[in-house]
Amino acid sequence: MTFASNDTITAVATAPGRGGVGIVRVSGPQSRAMAETILGLTPKPRFAHYGPFYGANGEVLDEGIALFFPGPNSFTGEDVLELQGHGGPIILQWLLERTVQLGARLAEPGEFSKQAFLNDKLDLAQAEAIADLIDASSQQAAKSALKSLQGEFSKQVNELVEELIQLRIYVEAAIDFPEEEIDFLSDGKVAGELQHILERLHQVLASAQQGVLLREGMSVVILGRPNAGKSSLLNALSGRESAIVTDIAGTTRDIVKEEIQIDGMPLHVLDTAGLREATDAVEQIGIQRAWAAIEEADRILVVVQANENIHPEDQAILARMPSHIPVTLIHNKIDLIEKSPGLDETVETAEIWLSAKHQLGLDLLKQHLKTQMGYAQTQEGVFMARKRHLDALNRALEFVQTGQQQLEAYAAGELLAEDLRQAQQALSEITGQFTSDDLLGRIFTSFCIGK
Ligand code: GDP
Ligand code: ZN
Repeated sequence: MTFASNDTITAVATAPGRGGVGIVRVSGPQSRAMAETILGLTPKPRFAHYGPFYGANGEVLDEGIALFFPGPNSFTGEDVLELQGHGGPIILQWLLERTVQLGARLAEPGEFSKQAFLNDKLDLAQAEAIADLIDASSQQAAKSALKSLQGEFSKQVNELVEELIQLRIYVEAAIDFPEEEIDFLSDGKVAGELQHILERLHQVLASAQQGVLLREGMSVVILGRPNAGKSSLLNALSGRESAIVTDIAGTTRDIVKEEIQIDGMPLHVLDTAGLREATDAVEQIGIQRAWAAIEEADRILVVVQANENIHPEDQAILARMPSHIPVTLIHNKIDLIEKSPGLDETVETAEIWLSAKHQLGLDLLKQHLKTQMGYAQTQEGVFMARKRHLDALNRALEFVQTGQQQLEAYAAGELLAEDLRQAQQALSEITGQFTSDDLLGRIFTSFCIGK
């Protein structure tokens, strides 16, 4: 069944700016008629048609390639027209306006993908993987998003759902024959199945956790006095001469955000100028921002100079760190004291000795950060996942565990059946079999326009 929308939607599908080719994509019932009007002929389905694109008065707006995909064999499941013109903003605006003139309305962000989801072309985890693939900031993240897009994650979730359904059927049959219920439930099959499902859930959860880490990355705040070597450390870690530096809008003080990655794990680094006691109001705002960033961080790196005693200012900062945010103390410039690289993770504040400038001990730091986040050595087979997926998996896990306890403690078939039903429902949220409009709205509006 196709989810028929009366609207025909249109959007520029390529990135804004100038490029060799720019694409306007149209989806909906009017796509076919629109193709005939713009091209002056009916394009052969799924064949490239090269020719002029006509405007309202028969003038040529551009020339390029048109592709027509009749539904349901299209990305959205509806009739889809793609106009591939020249990739300039004016041309694309003309083409976009032409499709609006002919009855299309501008698509909302993610609306093509949402249509594909509603028409069962993709499940929800796959649709989310499209956005994650586009947003991927590392090769590993892109690879894993592709895995999810191809259905690897959904397949594992669906297998679990199927096992839960089978077990529910078995348990509910037992409830229907009360005189045999106890035998049914105590024959070991149910307990064995439950154990098996729990193990699978743990496996999928572990893999999804890696996927979330690939997507979200680790966020660290880097602190230290001027000249301690913070910028040098960032550049050395990123393996680039100069890391991408973006100013956070509205900051009055020197907080710089950098995006680097270590072995595929995105690392969001906030480089703050310092947390000295400030008297003037502007500086105080900057300091407040720095503390706010610290509260959100996964870890704080405090950079000090190995050739100097820890400065009282740094000591004061270390003493004020929130207890729930772990701190690593980095003694930089070990070349000046001829010390070897080193790592001590046995103490509450981990310590690392390295030289940013001479690239000594950087692998210790990388390893340390990966270990602290639980980032797996190999990302082979990891699929992309989101926090909402983890949440669903964790809920499913809790329901199955509760069910297991009901069975062990009371041989309570009905309670177990209910827990299994809830676990199944939680898992179904991942692939979108159970979703609210509200959730769909939230997911798809975070997509880019034209996707
Ligand atoms: P920031 O102010 O904390 O960002 O410090 P910078 O990264 O700008 O470095 C300050 C100075 O220390 C620069 O001259 C760097 O070349 C130097 N520096 C950084 N790391 C090292 C190191 O490992 N050894 C030595 N000898 N100098 C370093
Ligand atoms: Zn700096």
